[in-house]
Amino acid sequence: MRVVSGEGRLAVVVDGRVVDVERVSRGRFDADPQAVYTRWEEFVAWAAEEPGLQPHEASGPALDETELAAPVPEPRQIFAIGLNYQDHAAEGGLDAPEATPMVFTKFPTSVAGPYDEIPLPAGAVDYEAELVAVIGKRAERVSADHAWCHVAGLTIGQDLSERELQTGPPHPPQFSLAKSFPKFSPIGPAVVTLDEFEDPSDLEIGCRLNGEQLQKARTREMIFSVPRIIAYLSSVLPLLPGDLIFTGTPAGVGFTRTPKRLIAPGDELLTYVEGIGSMKHRFYAGPGR
Ligand code: ZN
Repeated sequence: MRVVSGEGRLAVVVDGRVVDVERVSRGRFDADPQAVYTRWEEFVAWAAEEPGLQPHEASGPALDETELAAPVPEPRQIFAIGLNYQDHAAEGGLDAPEATPMVFTKFPTSVAGPYDEIPLPAGAVDYEAELVAVIGKRAERVSADHAWCHVAGLTIGQDLSERELQTGPPHPPQFSLAKSFPKFSPIGPAVVTLDEFEDPSDLEIGCRLNGEQLQKARTREMIFSVPRIIAYLSSVLPLLPGDLIFTGTPAGVGFTRTPKRLIAPGDELLTYVEGIGSMKHRFYAGPGR
C-alpha cells in the first residue's frame, strides 16, 4: 500500500488514482494524515478488505505527485542517524561508530513535502539522501528481531544540512539546529508498506543535483540496520506512532568534495529510493541569504 497526503488529506494510491480515506471509509478514519499512525494495524486490516481500495474499483483524481504534501506532516519525534555508511564516514575523515549509532534530531517544524520549494538560509547547505522509517506501533525496549513489526512503512527523506552551523567553530557544533531550518526535512512522496518490497533492507538510494548523480548506494550498506536502530533508540525512550527515523546518508555529500558542491538558489535536487519513488526540490534564496 502507498499512503500519501493529497492536499493535506490522508489518501491511498490505487491504480494511479488518489483515493481519499475519509470518504471511502465513510468517516471511520480521519482525513488528518498524521492521525492514522495511532490506529495503524486497524487501518491496514480495513484497507485490505475495503472494496473501494481494490484495483479497478478505485475512484478519485489521477495521481499528480507534484501536488502531494508530506505523508507524515507532524511527527512527535524525528530521529536522525549520523555516520551510518562506512564510505560516508570515511569521506568526512571520521571513524564510524561501532557499538551504537550516533543520534541527533531534526525538529518537527522542518518537515516538508516531496515537491516543495525550499528556502536557502545563509551558509553552506548540503544534501543527504536517506531512507526514512515511519513508526506504526509504539516501541519500547524492542529487540531487533521484532523491530520491523513496529514500522508502518518506508519513505524517502532529505537530511538537508547547513554545514557551517553544524560543524563550528567559532560556535559549538549544532547538528540538530543545522538540520532543522524550515523545509530542511522533506519526505515522501508516499509511505510504502513493507509488503511492497522484495527486501526492505536492500534498496538503491541516491540523489542528483541539476541532473548530475552525486550519491548512489544500497541501504544494505548501513552500519546499523533499521531494526538495530529501533532496538537502540527504544532501549532509551519510547518510539511513538508516526515518528520518523532518518537512517543516515551514503557517500557523495557536497561539503567533503573538492571543490565543495553546495546547493545554490535555482538548483534542482532529485532524491530517490528504489521501490518508493522520488522527490524533486527546487531551492531559492531565503531570508538572511
Ligand atoms: Zn543525515
